Amino acid sequence: MSAHPSSGPLVDTFGRVATDLRVSVTDRCNLRCTYCMPAEGLPWMSKPEMLSDDEMVRLIGLFVQLGITQLRLTGGEPLLRRSLVDLVRRFSELPNAPRIALTTNGIGLDRLAQPLADAGLSRINVSLDTVSSERFLQLTRRDRFADVERGLKAATDAGLAPVKVNAVAMPGEDPADLLAWCLDRGYELRFIEQMPLDAQHEWSRATMLSRQEILDSLGARFSLSTVENRGSAPAETFYVNGGPHKVGVIASVTAPFCGACDRVRLTADGQVRNCLFARSENDLRGPMRDGASDEQLVDLIRLNMWGKARGHGIGTPDFVQPDRPMSAIGG
Ligand code: SAM
Ligand code: SF4
Repeated sequence: MSAHPSSGPLVDTFGRVATDLRVSVTDRCNLRCTYCMPAEGLPWMSKPEMLSDDEMVRLIGLFVQLGITQLRLTGGEPLLRRSLVDLVRRFSELPNAPRIALTTNGIGLDRLAQPLADAGLSRINVSLDTVSSERFLQLTRRDRFADVERGLKAATDAGLAPVKVNAVAMPGEDPADLLAWCLDRGYELRFIEQMPLDAQHEWSRATMLSRQEILDSLGARFSLSTVENRGSAPAETFYVNGGPHKVGVIASVTAPFCGACDRVRLTADGQVRNCLFARSENDLRGPMRDGASDEQLVDLIRLNMWGKARGHGIGTPDFVQPDRPMSAIGG
């Protein structure tokens, strides 16, 4: 393989350019979604292992210099990082500040939505897989449905509309129930196919609902028409009953969009990853704490992107699930 470029955009060997950085601000979580974590949780990172606020701001500043225009904060549960509002404010004050989005389970958002919006957050996705509080307890192992409902409402009140809801499509749930609930409340819903990223390594095709199954269920109650101009967006979007309301489906497993991927990831312990499913990562924290210059850190980021694989390979015979679970990578 040729040497990675030392200038220009953050590019891989297939010509894809990274403009969207996903940052995991913590690996901890207050839910235990069955497709993500075991009931007992995971061995969380210790504070010294995690990037400090100053380290995070420095690294994100370097990614922005490399052409990142969209920053998404995730986790674990990002609202559990005590300094989150301050971090958002600091990211929004960077030169050429990126647009800042948040993916959250919504618990605590009733208190934090307005401070986050005031600090510079521009978009929010709240994860919710069911509209039944009993099913919520089964799927997340915590009785917190009412907290999420309050969080969603607070996000709308804070002016973060259109508030998006992300749902992993689960067997036993009718996707049309969730769509009806979101349409009533003005939330924009996107379904995600369940991926092999659970810490327990129990995923199988039999445990997921496919794009086609989701569309069939929705089609039984709503008429869907394709919205054109998808660009590099992973979601395939449909107008519901002629519009203007929309619903999306992210078919990472059955219709991967790797060819148009524009993402790169930074973990809470300072590893750069070119893909959710990457088998290796580059450490930025160690060199940074050893005194690396900005140029040296940028070179490591470029090196990591240059090693990005053509696709994730789920379903191929040599596919191997990454060692890190979703909560430690940042979904
Ligand atoms: N805790 C926050 C939340 O749930 O929104 C942020 C982190 S979570 C890992 C980010 C997103 O990944 C959520 O929408 C969650 O539903 C999704 N997710 C987790 N495990 C998944 C899996 N195995 N397949 C597909 N999506 C998954
Ligand atoms: Fe926590 Fe999000 Fe994983 Fe659920 S999906 S356990 S809310 S990190």
